[in-house]
Amino acid sequence: MLSLAALSLTSAAYAATAPTFDAKRLSEDVKTLSSDAFEGRGPATEGEKKTIAYVSEQMKAAGLQPGGDLKDGKRTWTQAVPLLRAEIKGTPKLGVSAGGKTFALTQGEEIAVRAALDGSKSVDVKGAPLVFLGYGVKAPERKWDDFKGMDLKGKVGIVLINDPDFETGQGDFGGKAMTYYGRWTYKYEEAARQGLLGLLIVHETEPASYGWKTVKNSNTNVQFDVVRDKPSSVHPTIEAWVQRDFAVDLFKKSGLDFDALKKEAQTRDFKPVVLKDATFSADYAVDEKVITSYNIVGRIEGAKRPDETVIYSAHWDHLGIGAPDAKGDKIYNGAVDNATGTAGLIELGRAFAHAPKPDRSIVFLNVTAEEKGLLGSEYYASKPLYPLAKTVGVINMDALDPMGPAKNFTTSGSAKSDLQDLLVADAQKANLAYSPDPHPEAGHFFRSDHFSFAKQGVPAFSFGSGNDLVTGGIPAGEAAHKDYVTNRYHQPADEWQPTWTFAGMAHDLGVLYQVGSDLANSDRWPDWSKDSEFRAKRDETASERH
Ligand SMILES: [Zn+2]
Repeated sequence: MLSLAALSLTSAAYAATAPTFDAKRLSEDVKTLSSDAFEGRGPATEGEKKTIAYVSEQMKAAGLQPGGDLKDGKRTWTQAVPLLRAEIKGTPKLGVSAGGKTFALTQGEEIAVRAALDGSKSVDVKGAPLVFLGYGVKAPERKWDDFKGMDLKGKVGIVLINDPDFETGQGDFGGKAMTYYGRWTYKYEEAARQGLLGLLIVHETEPASYGWKTVKNSNTNVQFDVVRDKPSSVHPTIEAWVQRDFAVDLFKKSGLDFDALKKEAQTRDFKPVVLKDATFSADYAVDEKVITSYNIVGRIEGAKRPDETVIYSAHWDHLGIGAPDAKGDKIYNGAVDNATGTAGLIELGRAFAHAPKPDRSIVFLNVTAEEKGLLGSEYYASKPLYPLAKTVGVINMDALDPMGPAKNFTTSGSAKSDLQDLLVADAQKANLAYSPDPHPEAGHFFRSDHFSFAKQGVPAFSFGSGNDLVTGGIPAGEAAHKDYVTNRYHQPADEWQPTWTFAGMAHDLGVLYQVGSDLANSDRWPDWSKDSEFRAKRDETASERH
């Protein structure tokens, strides 16, 4: 009798603080957002209009207030995000010369060229010298420089993906884990700083962490960037990936051994290698315009300190309509990526709207253009609707597991912060163990919207579903992950399934609710750990927090 009474007391106390999340609602939201009617939710498409209408309607019904741009003194449901939209007109003419012969390259086959984002309206390159630049890394704090002062103006570089110690597993770049130097975004930025005309990244599945299909699908379509004052300072004219087999063959034709050069590139002594008598040519026009996409923003105003803000975020966009798969399906539905996070955002909003008003304000930020390079979050972080100095923390959700439940969870990358510690502690209370990112080599820390906030110093993490499933354990979890990455990630097959239970999400959202509630109903200001590269930026505004 006694133990039964104690048990029901405990449950009652738990129920008072932790709301339950409805798996059916989550499923319904994901099903709707990833239906063909939403056309894969590409920014600035009919699919965006439908998404904005649906999400803002759901947020309103959930009890949130609009938290976006001011219009006539009133908040709207959206924040306008101006973006540069660039698209290659027709089929690009691409080719290489090597060993005295000229070879035409097919867009999407040997090579995937992005539409120019440096402001070029046409690209006309004839016989640009090719030079192998190792991993394309210049990291003074690690005493590493793959360029060795070579004049690279007018040249097209070839680089490897990931960072120099990925394959050896030991070194100054985090071993297997990916540093920012391993990301393709970094490689293009550095190429622009080095004055290169173009950069070809050699695709290899393991260090890239995804297959060629993913590369092809995300690079041969319309490209976007935030509108920049000087785009050529971060973008070379030609930004492309090439297949490994193509690179190996090209090196051979120039009398070079790809694998031997790769080994050299894993050392500090590496020097750039010009590909003898090999050149690159390209000829295409670029259709360029500035378009407007939107972040969707719901909010609950804090009762005591409304100027202090906790943010939940998730991106709503996916790849839209693109190249057809083997079945002829052209709609990239993005059910897991990221209708799941958007559904989570709506349901967290509902839970908070039905709870007593929090002390601090809570913003539910559904950002655009994540798939185009974290652009919606980048824009918000550069033009925040609510000051970042008084933004307590950001809890991001991207591509959650629609099955589960799991016995553990993870975060994208392993940046240490008090916010991360709070998450781990709250999760433990809900029997959810923290497992460090099982795939740190994939560089997930730089691949989700929390990174845009981290760069500005705001403590932030991206929550990841666990891989140790209640049914089937780690083998089942890893098998499901592998199936997703191979067969559905960034492919038209990322579609809602009637078999999805959403049991894991329903459980995990309770934990994320608790973290947000702890932040919103306290006066704590979590910070990055002392050795974090994001701490200095946060410290700049320390005097604004009390
Ligand atoms: Zn995503």
